[in-house]
Amino acid sequence: MEEFDVIVLGGGPSGSSTTIFLSKAGKKVLLLDRAKFPRDKTCGDGISGRSVGILGELGVLDDVRKAEHMDMFGVTFSSPKGTVVPISSGKPANGVPPGFVCRREVFDNVLFQNAKKVAAKTIEGFIATQIVKEGDKVVGVKGMLNGKETEFRCKVFVGADGAGGISARQLGALNEDEIHQCAAVRCYYDNVEGMGDKIELHFIKEALPGYFWIFPLPNKRANVGIGIVVKDMKAKKINLQKVMLDVIENHPVFKQRFANAKRSTDIKSWLLPLGSLRTKNYGNGYVLVGDASSLIDPFSGEGIGNALSSGKYSSRAIIAAFEANDFSEQKLSAYNKMLFEEIGDELDTNFRMQKMANHQWLLNMMIDKAGRSDLVKGAISDALINPDNHKKLMDPLFILRVLVA
Ligand SMILES: Cc1cc2nc3c(=O)[nH]c(=O)nc-3n(C[C@H](O)[C@H](O)[C@H](O)COP(=O)(O)OP(=O)(O)OC[C@H]3O[C@@H](n4cnc5c(N)ncnc54)[C@H](O)[C@@H]3O)c2cc1C
Repeated sequence: MEEFDVIVLGGGPSGSSTTIFLSKAGKKVLLLDRAKFPRDKTCGDGISGRSVGILGELGVLDDVRKAEHMDMFGVTFSSPKGTVVPISSGKPANGVPPGFVCRREVFDNVLFQNAKKVAAKTIEGFIATQIVKEGDKVVGVKGMLNGKETEFRCKVFVGADGAGGISARQLGALNEDEIHQCAAVRCYYDNVEGMGDKIELHFIKEALPGYFWIFPLPNKRANVGIGIVVKDMKAKKINLQKVMLDVIENHPVFKQRFANAKRSTDIKSWLLPLGSLRTKNYGNGYVLVGDASSLIDPFSGEGIGNALSSGKYSSRAIIAAFEANDFSEQKLSAYNKMLFEEIGDELDTNFRMQKMANHQWLLNMMIDKAGRSDLVKGAISDALINPDNHKKLMDPLFILRVLVA
């Protein structure tokens, strides 16, 4: 049986980034995925916030920018009553756009191929079925490869197998709380009118506290979808697919833009484990990263940036564990500490923003104010360029200044 320093299960953004960081630090990494890349992942395809910085640290930003994508320079919001407010992020001094829209089939493949180049070994088509333990220590993973049960062993196991994977379930970290999960549907449309260089988040009244999104792709193509917290969806008996199609066909703000558009894919649905719930993401011989660790932003639904951050900080903690030859829960807890020092405040802030978005009148007022106030536009624009500035949006003093503006 082959032994590795680290096994990374899952080659999405969290697993590929962990693999790149660790392999570049000299660790012998086995990267496993059940899919054969390129593969799709149901997503809005918005790559923004902290993603761009970490793609730079990984050394893959140029490759992403060479792949098919659209550069994004801001966000357009609309309120339940239909006020539309575009907010520009401005052009950052380094010339790199603050965000992209890139189909996951393309984006994940760029990351995965870069990971494959540096990993000791990569296996596609491996379907993991069982985390292997000795006592309470994780020592490897079993699964099916070419129809045969196969096992691999390691010093540290990284569960990067996403929302529906086995890692969170078998390691007692599954987020099944309907307050902290979002449901979403997504598809692609061709020939959508009126798109520019901004992602679009529309707070239609039928789906609060979630939103309807239009994310522009090349050639008038758009990633279109709608998402909402599961508890609210059930309480309000919302059929997401029906609401989305109804908005596209009949909503006064959107129907003209979709008048000549054609849906080019099936409508797919998926669950988003939100980072408003802290799940346990480390233990003896293992860490969990990305969606397996329930890290998606509870307000925006973005998970890629936090998945990449978890790759960065789990790698740092794993490298320190190898230096000390200590793979205990206590040693690996450094990952959780570093990660939440970076993203904890933002997750808490954005959970509060999600709760506020339940109130139509408040959203109407805030988006109206944003349309008129340079103070609000500036704060949102700052937060788009630097996610650390999110805190400012929920600072009581700032809110007071907005209310009296
Ligand atoms: C509808 C929707 C819209 C979204 N929109 C956005 C957005 O616009 N921007 C954004 O930042 N985030 C968005 N997200 C969140 C984002 O998609 C996730 O946060 C992100 O994909 C997490 O990356 P990951 O690497 O942790 O997991 P994944 O990308 O899910 O990767 C997991 C990998 O593990 C593999 N795997 C799973 N099980 C096994 C197994 N048993 N054996 C072997 N391999 C396995 C899978 O094949 C997959 O390649 C959205 C999510 C949804 C559902």
